[in-house]
Amino acid sequence: MKWLQHLQSHLQAWSLWEILRGLSTTLRYFFKPKVTLRYPYEKGPLSPRFRGEHALRRYPNGEERCIACKLCEAVCPAQAIVIEAEPRNDGSRRTTRYDIDMTKCIYCGLCEEACPVDAIVEGPNFEFSTLTRHELTYTKEKLLSNGDRWETEIAARLAEKNTDTNS
Ligand code: SF4
Ligand code: SF4
Repeated sequence: MKWLQHLQSHLQAWSLWEILRGLSTTLRYFFKPKVTLRYPYEKGPLSPRFRGEHALRRYPNGEERCIACKLCEAVCPAQAIVIEAEPRNDGSRRTTRYDIDMTKCIYCGLCEEACPVDAIVEGPNFEFSTLTRHELTYTKEKLLSNGDRWETEIAARLAEKNTDTNS
């Protein structure tokens, strides 16, 4: 019956039914656990396969892991890595220069995969925006300081990744 439908829609309009329904939805979600995070104060979990800012790692005694084999430089599809090396007095081979042009890097992770000593890795840091391109040319010092800063997280992530691979 048409007149009944009209009456119903008029009653709904006059009683502000749609607004009340909307407000009830708001009220229902107001007391539910929040799904949003207050970034940057809160951050979500990262996958062990997350590939963030690069870092060069050291051994626990402080010695650089990198043996200057240049596998990472050779494998990098973006040609973002530049390495120069020479032997030290003790005969060990170490880099004298290790640069990564982060504006070229495509975060493929091949450098990390290629490294035989887990020296170059992609760490968990994703907050490294800069004001100039120049700041995104990472030197060996910068990469080593990244490694020192993030070693705990990187070591935990590699351990988790290796467990996943072996299981
Ligand atoms: S993540 Fe990929 S593109 Fe970036 S430096 Fe490593 S190998 Fe090169
Ligand atoms: S970071 Fe690893 S792959 Fe690259 S030169 Fe050093 S040891 Fe070789």
